[in-house]
Amino acid sequence: MDLTNSRDIDNWTPLMWAVRVCGKWDTRSSYRLGIIKELLNHGADRMVEGEGLGRTWTAYELAWYYNLDKEIIDIVTPTPEELQKVSGEEHSALWAYRIKSPKIKGRDGPSDSYCDACLMMLNDIMHSCEICENFRLCFKCYRSRNMIHAGHAFYVWREDEEYEGYMDTDLSSYASGSEESSIG
Ligand SMILES: [Zn+2]
Ligand SMILES: [Zn+2]
Repeated sequence: MDLTNSRDIDNWTPLMWAVRVCGKWDTRSSYRLGIIKELLNHGADRMVEGEGLGRTWTAYELAWYYNLDKEIIDIVTPTPEELQKVSGEEHSALWAYRIKSPKIKGRDGPSDSYCDACLMMLNDIMHSCEICENFRLCFKCYRSRNMIHAGHAFYVWREDEEYEGYMDTDLSSYASGSEESSIG
């Protein structure tokens, strides 16, 4: 059974997972390029779009978000032929926009901050449990919070240039479960 293009609950494929960064656990980041090449050799689809919070993600945009090397960004960039196959004017325009300006560029977070569900690095947005000490979810796992961590409310932390550790006080959209974040 070929799982190269299998999807998780958010429509994410192994290629999309392979470009995410985990700063802890002695992850051998030197293997990343090889893993991505292997997936692509097995026919991993560069055009997959996975769900995020109020937006979709592609492997290409994730590679930017996690500050990966240019070599990796280059090989996950859809080819002109692949882009040509996109059907629908709106969808083509979306892809053109993505390629032109991907580019929410995440900053390297502290290497010890990670999501308690998927263990991937928390970049500049994280969701903290209001009840449990030090239980945090990344933007992806937050989508599945009702399965992962049911019954506890979360608040969102964002870090931007000016407000290190700034806490978003407008929590209503998160508490109610609507998904308006432009980051996640
Ligand atoms: Zn996670
Ligand atoms: Zn909790």
